[in-house]
Amino acid sequence: MSFLTLANQYQSFDFKTYFNSIRPEDVQKTLDRGAGGLKRLETRDLLTLLSPAAEDFLEPMAQTARELTCRHFGQIISLYAPLYISDYCSNHCTYCGFNALTAFPRTRLTMEEINREARAIADTGIRHILVLTGEAPAKTPLSYLEAACRVMARYFSSIALEIFPMTQSDYQVLHRAGADSLTVYQEVYDQAVYKEVHPKGPKADYAFRLLTPERGAAAGFRAVNIGTLFGLGNPKAEAFMAGIHARYLEQAFPHVEISLSLPRMTRAGGAIAPKHLLPDKGFVQTMLAWRLFMPRLGITVSTRESAAFRDRIIHLGATRYSAGSRTDVGGYAVHTTDTTAQFEVTDTRTVAEVADMIRNNGYQPVFKDWEIF
Ligand code: SF4
Repeated sequence: MSFLTLANQYQSFDFKTYFNSIRPEDVQKTLDRGAGGLKRLETRDLLTLLSPAAEDFLEPMAQTARELTCRHFGQIISLYAPLYISDYCSNHCTYCGFNALTAFPRTRLTMEEINREARAIADTGIRHILVLTGEAPAKTPLSYLEAACRVMARYFSSIALEIFPMTQSDYQVLHRAGADSLTVYQEVYDQAVYKEVHPKGPKADYAFRLLTPERGAAAGFRAVNIGTLFGLGNPKAEAFMAGIHARYLEQAFPHVEISLSLPRMTRAGGAIAPKHLLPDKGFVQTMLAWRLFMPRLGITVSTRESAAFRDRIIHLGATRYSAGSRTDVGGYAVHTTDTTAQFEVTDTRTVAEVADMIRNNGYQPVFKDWEIF
C-alpha cells in the first residue's frame, strides 16, 4: 500500500468535528502515555495533540518534546543553506512568485556560476546544501542537474535536492553524482485545495507528487524531508496529514532519516495571500505534536521565520536551521542586486550570527555530520 491509499481515506474525514470533540482529559491521557517516550503514540493521539483542547497543554508538551529531542539528537542544531540554481518554471502554483505567469528575467546558472555560489557558501563554514530549481525539465534536464551535483560535491558533504519530482531511476543518477537527500513538499494534502492552487502544469498531478518521497527513498537517498505549506489548507488537518505521511515513510523505509518542515507562506510578488494563517502558537503546537508523535523525526525551521521567533523555539524540538539564506538565483556571489526571490527571507542574520545564537542557547551548531565515501 502506498501513502496515496491512506491519504485518500482522509479526504472526506470531518477534521473540524473530530478536533472539536476532543476534551482536556483526552489530551492528558495522551500526554501520560507519551511521557518519557516509552510508549509509541498512535494516529488518534496526533489528532488529540493538534486539537484546540491541547492548546492549553503546550507547557507539558514542550517539556516532553525537549526531553525526547535531547535523548535522540543531543543538544544540537544542524545548519544548511539553500542554493537556487534556476528559477525557470512551467507550473502555475498560485502561491509562488516563480510561477510561469509571473514576468521577470529568468536565470539558470552555468556550472562556473554554481561553482562561485558554492564557494561563497562554503566560505561561511556551511557543509550541507539544499539545491533548488523551479519545475522546467527542458531548462534544467537530468544532465544539467547531474553536472551541478558533481560541482557541489567539491564543497559540500551533504547535498539535498529540492527540485521537480522525478522517476526513481533519475534520482539514482543524481544519487550517484553526490546527492544524498531529497526534499519535497506536498504543499497541501487536501485534494480540492491542491487542484485549486495548481491549475496547470505538471504539478497538477497530485498523486505523482505525493509518491515522490517514496521514489526518492527507494532510489537510495539517506534522508527525505517532507512538509505542507501552511497557508493553503486547514492548518490542523494539514499538520495531521504531514505527520502521518512522515510516520508512513518511517515505517516503510526504516533505513531513511525522515524529517518534516513547517514552511509558512510569506509575501512574494505575483502570488496569492495565505487563506489560512498558522499563528505562532499553532506553529509551536504543531512542532510539539510532531515531536511527541515521532521522537526521532528531524524538524527543520527555515529563515522564513523571524530571528526572534527562531531564537524562542530552539528548545522545542527543532533539529535543523537554515542560515545566511538567499532565495534568489545567484544571490550569494553571482547576482547580488536586482534579482527576484522566491519568498522573502525574514531571518537575515549571517551564518556566524545564527551559530552564535545556537551556542548562546546551550546548543552546538553542527556544520557537518555526514560524508559520502
Ligand atoms: S512552487 Fe515550485 S513548482 Fe510551483 S511555481 Fe514555484 S517554483 Fe514552480
